[in-house]
This record gives sequence, C-alpha cells and structure tokens, in this order.
Amino acid sequence: MHSLTNLIWHDGKLFGIQWSVWKVVGWLGNAVFFSRFFVQWYATEKLKRVVVPTAFWWLSLAGSLLLLSYALFYQRDSVFIFAYAFTWIPYIRNLIIHRRHAEAHLRCAACATLCPPHSSFCLACGAQLKEGSVAAEIRTSKGEIRMKSK
Ligand SMILES: [Zn+2]
Repeated sequence: MHSLTNLIWHDGKLFGIQWSVWKVVGWLGNAVFFSRFFVQWYATEKLKRVVVPTAFWWLSLAGSLLLLSYALFYQRDSVFIFAYAFTWIPYIRNLIIHRRHAEAHLRCAACATLCPPHSSFCLACGAQLKEGSVAAEIRTSKGEIRMKSK
C-alpha cells in the first residue's frame, strides 16, 4: 500500500510531475489523443469490420491541437512542434469527407430506407430513387436525425 501511495504521490508531487496549467493541457492532449484508439477499436469490434468513426477524427483533432499548443507555448521544442504542426489537415479533411458522404445518402420515398449515395434503386424495396427530388437524412453526432432537402 505504501509503494502504491508513493507511486501516486512522490516528493510532494502527483505522479512525481511538477504540475502547471500547461502540464494539464499537455496531459489532457495525451489523454484525448490516446482515447481515439479505444473509440476506433470499439467501433471495429462492434461491427466486426474495420471502421473509423467520426469520433476518431474529432479526438485526433482535439488531442493534436492540445499537444501542438503545449509544444508551441510551453515546450518550445522544434521536433515536438513539427510532429503536430500539420496533422490537423488530414483530420479536418476526413471530417469534411465524412459529412459530405453522410449528406449524400438518399431516403427512399416508398419505404424510408436510407440508401448509399448515387444509388439508383432502394436497397430494401427496389423502388427507383430520384437523386434530385428525395430528401437526404443525416445523423448528427448526438444521434439526432436532420433532414436536408436535395
Ligand atoms: Zn425503399
């Protein structure tokens, strides 16, 4: 028990770390960035195929921006700054592509099934889909369903 207490609280410091606001920002960035692996793993295990949910890209973006700010304003180390200076570009691009793909889905007028973009016929009932006239539905991150007229 004493060794565990010593591991958590050592030399008057939590985990032996000299804490500051920037240390909290840096460790928060580490925690957010690391958590994306569990999100992606969970989504893949749930569907039994490799998937990358949008939450993965949001966590990547938030974590990398926290780590970049830590590197820029606290660490001021060129290697660390460069490591996170450009990673936000593919994260934002992937979020844009995810959103455009979700918005391009077509709702079948006959049975209300959501069909993949550019589908000619409904997956469920076989009814012809009219891309220009059918409303598309997108599911927001909160699970709400939002209609978008096409
Ligand atoms: Zn249908």
